[in-house]
Amino acid sequence: MVEAGCGGGGDDDAIVDDAALGIDADVDAPTDAADTVTCATPDTCEWLEDYLREQVGKLTGQRPAAPGVTIMRRASSTERTVARTYLVDELTRLGLAPTIHDYGSGKNVVVHLASTTGGTLPRIVIGGHFDGVAAGPAAADNGTGAAIVVATARYLGTRTRRDRAIDLVLFDQEEAGLIGSTAYALKLRGDATAVDSVHNFDMISFDGDGDQAIELWSPDAGLEAFYRSHAQPRGIPVGSVTFASSDHQPFVDRGFATVGVCEEFVGGDATPHYHRVTDTYDKIDFVYTTRVTRLLLAILEDRSID
Ligand SMILES: [Zn+2]
Repeated sequence: MVEAGCGGGGDDDAIVDDAALGIDADVDAPTDAADTVTCATPDTCEWLEDYLREQVGKLTGQRPAAPGVTIMRRASSTERTVARTYLVDELTRLGLAPTIHDYGSGKNVVVHLASTTGGTLPRIVIGGHFDGVAAGPAAADNGTGAAIVVATARYLGTRTRRDRAIDLVLFDQEEAGLIGSTAYALKLRGDATAVDSVHNFDMISFDGDGDQAIELWSPDAGLEAFYRSHAQPRGIPVGSVTFASSDHQPFVDRGFATVGVCEEFVGGDATPHYHRVTDTYDKIDFVYTTRVTRLLLAILEDRSID
């Protein structure tokens, strides 16, 4: 599996040393070498599907998150602390600098990517909740969205040009009433932070009818048009519905240009394992998840360039 991010870790030195010694670095460390070559665009990012599998697997007990650490639930305070610690460790391993947004009853995990061009354009906010219901491993809801946020941080963190700063936020306590996202929306308003757009990913795991469609929840009109312009050439149908029960809503309520992204939850093509003990890793359609993630990466990268 993938051992280091596009820009992460100190393995590059090892590769150089191996090459200098005449050893074929590809034998021992194919992933790092390939990543730097294949991450030029979302569509050529070869690590993406394996990485999404790895992240969902580690968040749902399908594989250990760390030696001796297996995350089976992400509901109680203790369980969320273990999951949060894993996410901080993983983002750090990728060479990013995650911080904690402590709002009292819980803690969001935040990665801030600064503009590479030094401008002060309104920023992009990308989110997805990492907590889950107590009933089960919460692989679809929202292991998938959390994994997409981490993969997006990994991808966008390697871009050489980024006119807009980006906040990537793993929200705590969505299932307890959109608590972490509400706290973050309030923080942005309290700090008078200029925000271009908010994008929230919740449950991108299932495509029973095989049409590859996504559903946008209460999208800002401009963002909906932006999503459609990228989805259409990829052959990805886009539905649009009014729906309030996810982390996009606190941002909608406070006047941010916002979009929620999901499988067709309202449209009737959603996982039958929602909020059940059976919401497990093996039920995830990673081909669908990966295809949608490529679309999201393309949208977000485009949006980050003025
Ligand atoms: Zn959710």
